[in-house]
Amino acid sequence: MYDDRLHDSCGVFGIHAPGRDVARLTFFGLYALQHRGQESAGIAVADDGQITVIKDLGLVSQVFNEQMLQSLSGQHAIGHVRYSTTGSSHWQNSQPLVRSRNGDVIALGHNGNLVNTTELRDELIAQGVKFAGTTDTEVITALIAHEAEGDLLGAVRTAVAKIRGAFSAAVMSGDALVGFRDPYGVRPLCLGTYEGQPVISSETAGLDIIGADFVREIQPGEIVIVDKEHGLRSERVELEGSRPALCIFEFIYFSRPDSTMAGRTLHLVRQEMGKHLALEAPVEADLVIPVPDTGMPAAIGYASASGLPYAEGLIKNRYVHRTFIQPDDQLRQVGIRMKLNPLSAVIRGKRLVVVDDSIVRGNTTSKLVEMLFSAGAKEVHLRISSPPIQYPCYYGIDMATRAELIAANLSVDEIRAKVGATSLHYLTLEGLQDSTGLPKSQFCRACFDGDYPIAVPEEYSMCKMRFEKGAAATCEP
Ligand code: SF4
Repeated sequence: MYDDRLHDSCGVFGIHAPGRDVARLTFFGLYALQHRGQESAGIAVADDGQITVIKDLGLVSQVFNEQMLQSLSGQHAIGHVRYSTTGSSHWQNSQPLVRSRNGDVIALGHNGNLVNTTELRDELIAQGVKFAGTTDTEVITALIAHEAEGDLLGAVRTAVAKIRGAFSAAVMSGDALVGFRDPYGVRPLCLGTYEGQPVISSETAGLDIIGADFVREIQPGEIVIVDKEHGLRSERVELEGSRPALCIFEFIYFSRPDSTMAGRTLHLVRQEMGKHLALEAPVEADLVIPVPDTGMPAAIGYASASGLPYAEGLIKNRYVHRTFIQPDDQLRQVGIRMKLNPLSAVIRGKRLVVVDDSIVRGNTTSKLVEMLFSAGAKEVHLRISSPPIQYPCYYGIDMATRAELIAANLSVDEIRAKVGATSLHYLTLEGLQDSTGLPKSQFCRACFDGDYPIAVPEEYSMCKMRFEKGAAATCEP
């Protein structure tokens, strides 16, 4: 594959705004969160207790049209964009998922990945619960639906106490909307207000697009609920031994640069990463160029700290998403050129500092370096605004197995030789931490240091395809 990026798992959005076009507002919220998942999109709307869901494989703009949005009226809504971290890209795995509960219906969308899904799923199956899809989200939905006693808040509370792992989710019944976040707060979730009514979103960019004001982040372990009777309420679920562990990769790459997180604008944090890179690994060069789009803020930071000129030397094709048609060997550069094309006139004869946010498997980086040299670059000094990724992620990021991670298997100099760069430097973990301006105790940094804040079971049970038919063959270590 020519796609060597890390993939975020999902984005969630929810709004309670009686008298407003909640489906359209959710559509735009999802539009702003599209980068968090491009495989499927869905919206569920509650209208006087009746829930309607529209979802399909594809981008938000492909799944919804004007007619559909007009058919979805109601008092509250949730929406979801998905990249599959558990289960494959089937329609039944797209979200929001729906289940009946106590004669009502609930709909749920989730971002993250559980680490005790197998155990919970087995328990539910033993109690006669049937599963149609293959995601851990289905397990969360089934747990809440199966908790027949009490209201939705009580059922979510009980479920949160049982599930382990990373989860930021939105769930609704006919008369209530709930947002909840795991006790470690691995995936982001924030609370906003739109014309005095509550909105939840994976990122602040989802609030900005509809003109909602940011209120605060939903805290690790917090459950917020809004209903007609009580308005907005909130409570915390404490988990012994837990600590805040926000994914540091949200700062490096996943979240939009115009989102704010933990009080920081991510574009500025990424510029800081570039400045640290320039201090850690200066080099004599003519130009600093980013690998667009995500390498841009760090490249700006590198250029400003080094005094080297910044230029665009790679042009991104803005309309590329995913193709399942692979080029043959003769066309092996097509895959990367569909996404990036070098500007020969800018880079010919130049010693380049090329700034990117990460290297996962390394195959795309090799092609990129080759392409830059073919376009006339004299030297290619790679600067990566994250440390080497040496450990897989179990908390909702599709990152390849340890065997596939180039930095888990090769030294930095071996990677440099393999990708063909003149020099290579990764930002140190200390440099990364400094750039955030926050203490390391607030973060998960496990893919860099192997220190997993939430205990993970055997690798096999964490396989992404673990509930698929024939999974044993796919998941053997
Ligand atoms: Fe984020 Fe890495 Fe932790 Fe996964 S392991 S949650 S990608 S910091």
